Amino acid sequence: MVYLVGAGPGRADLITVRGAELLKTADCIIYDKLANPALLTYAGPNAEILHVPKRISGRSFTQDEINNLLVEKANEGKTVVRLKGGDPCIFGRGAEEAKILADAGIDFEIVPGVTAAIAAAEYSGVMLTDRNYSSQVAFITGHEAEGKQESSIDWDVLARFPGSIVFYMGMGGLQFITEQLIKNGMNKETPAAVIANATFPNQRITKSTVEGIDDKCKQENIGPPAIVVIGDAAVGDTSLNWFMKKPLFGRTIVATRDHRGNADFAAKIINRAGNPVEFPTIKIEPLTNTTGFLQALTKITEYDWIVFTSANGVRIFFDYIQGLAKDARVFASAKIAAIGAKTADVLTEFGIKADFIPDVFTGKELGKQLIGFTNIKGKKILLLRSQLASNELVDILQQAGAEVDNVPVYTAVTAKTDSAPLTKQISDGTVNWLTFASPSSVTAFFEQIRPDLVNSAKVRVASIGPVTSEQLKKIGVKIDLQAAEHTIDGLLDAIEQDRISKT
Ligand code: SAH
Repeated sequence: MVYLVGAGPGRADLITVRGAELLKTADCIIYDKLANPALLTYAGPNAEILHVPKRISGRSFTQDEINNLLVEKANEGKTVVRLKGGDPCIFGRGAEEAKILADAGIDFEIVPGVTAAIAAAEYSGVMLTDRNYSSQVAFITGHEAEGKQESSIDWDVLARFPGSIVFYMGMGGLQFITEQLIKNGMNKETPAAVIANATFPNQRITKSTVEGIDDKCKQENIGPPAIVVIGDAAVGDTSLNWFMKKPLFGRTIVATRDHRGNADFAAKIINRAGNPVEFPTIKIEPLTNTTGFLQALTKITEYDWIVFTSANGVRIFFDYIQGLAKDARVFASAKIAAIGAKTADVLTEFGIKADFIPDVFTGKELGKQLIGFTNIKGKKILLLRSQLASNELVDILQQAGAEVDNVPVYTAVTAKTDSAPLTKQISDGTVNWLTFASPSSVTAFFEQIRPDLVNSAKVRVASIGPVTSEQLKKIGVKIDLQAAEHTIDGLLDAIEQDRISKT
């Protein structure tokens, strides 16, 4: 079985639900240059993944080779997803591939995708249809214009087309295209727009007239992949350019947590139109086979309160419990406290509603506010935390008369990441923000990148909260901003606010 799946125009989450579901179950994924590789995170661990770029340096594939590959993989009995940029059949040769499959007697299904023209228009305030000026849209391939002879485009008809004309693959032959239109009678002053890298944080748009657009693109260095829009629609409405107006649009933000935390953070940055750079500094390692942890587990029903101070702690605890074929009932009647919203969220994934969350998400506030919330004198409290967590919370609870077992369930070790590319980006001034979400990632980051480089560069430094800031100060790193709410969303809110206040 072969599924010809549209990957959407770029941004990974613009794939359809059906497309994403099929990626999860595919035995073999064959994808080309325009499909966002981030979509491969949907693939199962055993999926075979084949990249078949067409025109790209190094190995390139002819359409015949791709066709043969599809037939071969399907005949091996595999469920194949053929992932193609945008919509599979809009200038995507999906129909040709389907025909080959039909002739070979192989079952196939076509899953439509959001095509580049529509996404580019809607992500830039250029509306292709409008009651007042455009009741028709033409999608044209500009590819043929590159060869210049034997074009099947009827320039005469197109020059008189009373609506929006959209060229795919038009950048190589843009000068030729505009000349042909003008030569065939189109008004030179007809509006034209080019939208490049649509839906990505490096999306760009430039506007001019049919006569001027080619030069303007050259001046501004705007190249493929890009969509060319010609007609009154190309004037656009800047008030509808919602995407490029987002405060984090195009801002490059470095996430420095562990691998999983960075992936989560990157998704949030993309949601706000920013450009994430994932630089893992630490690796989270479970410490569940320690005597301390195993002892706490044997008497877990004796605790009055069980306290989680991170999402990692929750996940590692439940991984372990699930390994024993147990579930949340091990907590019996104990009350559960979470340091913040994210930790509480992850608890709900395991069916637990936290009984207490402080309104400021730090260990210190958790301790102080828990004391105000309930009488903890003589109560037994279990803390399941990082080995690297400070003693502050323990001290606060003990001073209030609680009997505290502080049990590490994980630690963070330095992860080795090649720091050369990021060092260069920092020196070049192409990253806007370095973000830090824990003291351990601060330490690990500055073992690899010199503090004075960061201090002297244009890059700015954002900290999630006071404990992380403390560590930055200790190392001598300037802090530009500390989040008011000590969560990843709070950190991004603060960076957004900073941007808004500066524009
Ligand atoms: N099947 C694809 C189109 C493939 S042809 C679809 O439906 O979108 C390749 C052309 O698509 C590029 O030359 C460019 O014109 C356009 N394109 C694809 N992705 C784009 C993007 N993110 N931004 C602007 N144009 C894009």
